[in-house]
Amino acid sequence: MKDTGMIRSLDSLGRIVVPVEIRMTRNIDIGDPIEFFILNEEIIVLRKYTSTECTFCRSLDHVTYYKDQFICNNCLKELGDPGRLSAEAEPLEDPAEDESIRNSRRTKTEEMSQRLEKAMVEHPYANQKELAGVLGISQARVSQLKRKISTTGK
Ligand SMILES: [Zn+2]
Repeated sequence: MKDTGMIRSLDSLGRIVVPVEIRMTRNIDIGDPIEFFILNEEIIVLRKYTSTECTFCRSLDHVTYYKDQFICNNCLKELGDPGRLSAEAEPLEDPAEDESIRNSRRTKTEEMSQRLEKAMVEHPYANQKELAGVLGISQARVSQLKRKISTTGK
């Protein structure tokens, strides 16, 4: 045990002042609760009281003690979950490129829809297979585009 050499007297109400040097180095603020321990007949130990509530969310349920801190299961899970970080980082992965890919895909579909419409005008009696041949795409793509054209009201 280290002797600080600091001595304080009890006042008339039995109070003592915790020296400011100790308060500052031990991170004790005005209003903080202090715990008393009895070491032996002569020695009383004071300690800043840490309640057993979670340091992060103040929950009292399923609290674990870790490195001088109490932490609840929920906060522990959040801290330890590697998926949390990657999920947050995901939108940062080049959103500009993503956007341009989406745009080009949309443009291609619109372009093909227009070509299909034109082909249907030019070959009014052509079936899907023939239209697919004209446009150089699959029959499935033709029927997909046809549905798209009819739903957009063209
Ligand atoms: Zn918590």
